[in-house]
Amino acid sequence: MTEYLDPFKISQTQLAEACKIKGYDNEIYEALSQPERFIEIKITLKMDNGHLKTFKGFRSQYNSARGPMKGGIRWHPEESGSLVKALSAWMTWKTACVDIPLGGAKGGIICNPKGMSERELETLARSYIRQLADFIGPNIDVPAPDVYTNPQIMAWMMDEYETIVRRHAPSVITGKPLPIGGSAGRAIATAKGGVFCIREAAKDIGLNLKGAPVAIQGYGNAGSWAAKLLKDDFDCKIIAVSDSKGGICNLDGIDPYKAADHKEKTGTVVGLDGTKKITNEELLELECDILVPAALENVITKKNASQIKTKIIAELANGPTTPQADNILHNNNVLMIPDFLCNAGGVTVSYFEMVQGYYRYFWTEEEVFVALDRIMTNAYRSTVEHAEQVNTHNRMGAYMVSIDRVIEAMQLRGWI
Ligand code: NAD
Repeated sequence: MTEYLDPFKISQTQLAEACKIKGYDNEIYEALSQPERFIEIKITLKMDNGHLKTFKGFRSQYNSARGPMKGGIRWHPEESGSLVKALSAWMTWKTACVDIPLGGAKGGIICNPKGMSERELETLARSYIRQLADFIGPNIDVPAPDVYTNPQIMAWMMDEYETIVRRHAPSVITGKPLPIGGSAGRAIATAKGGVFCIREAAKDIGLNLKGAPVAIQGYGNAGSWAAKLLKDDFDCKIIAVSDSKGGICNLDGIDPYKAADHKEKTGTVVGLDGTKKITNEELLELECDILVPAALENVITKKNASQIKTKIIAELANGPTTPQADNILHNNNVLMIPDFLCNAGGVTVSYFEMVQGYYRYFWTEEEVFVALDRIMTNAYRSTVEHAEQVNTHNRMGAYMVSIDRVIEAMQLRGWI
């Protein structure tokens, strides 16, 4: 069997397997396996050096049966239509898995924001919204930040949308800065939600989290917060972390705050005092209790899956494991917390941000996290229950929960 590495094909392979397990026929698979709408746009900017530059952007609106579509916007030199489509599918399964009343979407622009000035970034953000304003809105499709976009970019995007529609509409975008309608807790929500799932998984396998060795690939928003929360909330031992420049390891434990400071000062975690340099590939194969991929897609494949020596994998990244690797890990009794469950804390708090924006009444961080814990714990439990019923891995369990909910909404609307 071929190992599919195209992200959208991977998402379709997973969906096909879930449909087969649930006994849904090909007609249902076809109805679920493509976005409702895929928009490709062109943006031409006058750059600071006086030259024109033309960018390609995307918005994939995958499924709206359960509510307004929701999904982040990535700005990355290697962005692609296939990746945006795959991520919009995973957003659909994610919002359904945690049972919030939203559909799934995703957007992106092929660009290198690290090489652009603030004026160029703002113009790019506003142009993207001008191109898409007819297709998004608080009751249509609600973007958010993702790789290399941030709260400031969301603020410009919201302002551009509000300028076009001539009224306040804070719930058109989430991940905004707090003073203009952001939610308390949003910045750490993805990691917090993942950590709630890890707590439940540890209970299931009788793992004592105090002192449990943890390896984390990727030390950005998701990975660095996961390290800090696992240390602060459960006294886990962070033995390895990494970023795009490489990894570091200390079997006696790494202080996650010192690693974050070092990265802030030098641009990488590599070189932190008292640690040994390792590669990203070596990090994945370290003996540990919890492995957290929090960087890229396709890092756990059939090539390295059998070398992985952990009890729990908590996927904060989207798409880090290929379908063939999933089967190998399942056979080796590795407990998988799949991406669209594990990293759903971000979209769940984004949903809270939309709700707070509608009411113009804002919650405390404590209220946000109590509500998040309830939602994540319920989603984790439903996933495990469905997987156990048919003796499959948790990714299929999560798919089974999600596709049932999306199909039910489509049937009730008379779409299928
Ligand atoms: P980020 O840009 O803040 O951090 C990404 C990290 O990955 C950085 O430390 C970077 O150095 C590292 N990295 C890049 N290339 C790498 C490589 N080749 N090897 C190892 N590390 C590499 O991004 P983020 O927001 O933390 O997102 C990380 C993953 O989590 C992505 O897959 C994203 O889609 C997913 N995710 C994030 C959120 C969120 O709210 N932040 C929500 C859901 C999913």
